[in-house]
Amino acid sequence: MRILFCGVRGSTPAPGPEFVRYGGNTSCVALSHDGSAPSLVLDAGTGLSRLSRHLDGRPFRGTLLLGHLHWDHTHGLPFFPAGNRPGSDVDVLIPAQGDAMRVLERAISPPHFPLTPGELRGRWSFAGLEPGRHRIEDFDVLAAEIPHKGGRTFGYRVSEHGRSLAYLSDHWPVGAGEGSDGLGAYHDAAIALAEDVDVLIHDAQYTAAEFPGRRSYGHSAVEYAVGLAEAARARRLVLFHHDPSRTDDEIDALVAIFQGRAVDVVGAAEGMTLDL
Ligand SMILES: [Zn+2]
Ligand SMILES: [Zn+2]
Repeated sequence: MRILFCGVRGSTPAPGPEFVRYGGNTSCVALSHDGSAPSLVLDAGTGLSRLSRHLDGRPFRGTLLLGHLHWDHTHGLPFFPAGNRPGSDVDVLIPAQGDAMRVLERAISPPHFPLTPGELRGRWSFAGLEPGRHRIEDFDVLAAEIPHKGGRTFGYRVSEHGRSLAYLSDHWPVGAGEGSDGLGAYHDAAIALAEDVDVLIHDAQYTAAEFPGRRSYGHSAVEYAVGLAEAARARRLVLFHHDPSRTDDEIDALVAIFQGRAVDVVGAAEGMTLDL
């Protein structure tokens, strides 16, 4: 499978010259089978608009699988030209919490926005997903509830032909316990998602030094992400959901700290691809 990073920023977009190398669009990661167009997209942040240019002018046909419904994971939905057009075929899955279309409409409808999800062109469906094992777009998907702040949140493990990735974009591990260093517990759901994966894409919003003042915000420290990756024996850790204030140079410096560890650590950047 191929992993294409379309948006890597957390919380709110970060435009500006200090952010051009890693990118300012919010969470969106597109997955494709070898040689095929992307068909399974994790989250619909503003990075979703980038995906259209990778579809060679064709409409999108596939599933948008959302981990949760914060703005930085949904604001790309109405700005997705390959989806909002005749011929598209889009299934949107969200963590189950009542009527999925009505839940999305609370954020995407007048007076907040001129359109509702039901007015997007092409064929769109909206449904809730329960935790557990699913088969989505010919990928094996494990969905597990993980602690975050403000709404039901899932992490995902996606597998194909013995290769796997875990996606925990927004993760508040102190919600499951302090852990040995106060940065949060390596709890069962996190381990189940990340165990032995080829790639762990993980919330890296804060540093351990920043964490004490922000521990209630619902996110992780980079040091927690590295510790989880090593505890779960992930082969590569992709630092993701960069804080909107984190400049390119600061991300470079963070990544440099963790070179030489048991796990390969890289920073997620818009346009980056990984082949598993
Ligand atoms: Zn987020
Ligand atoms: Zn969030």
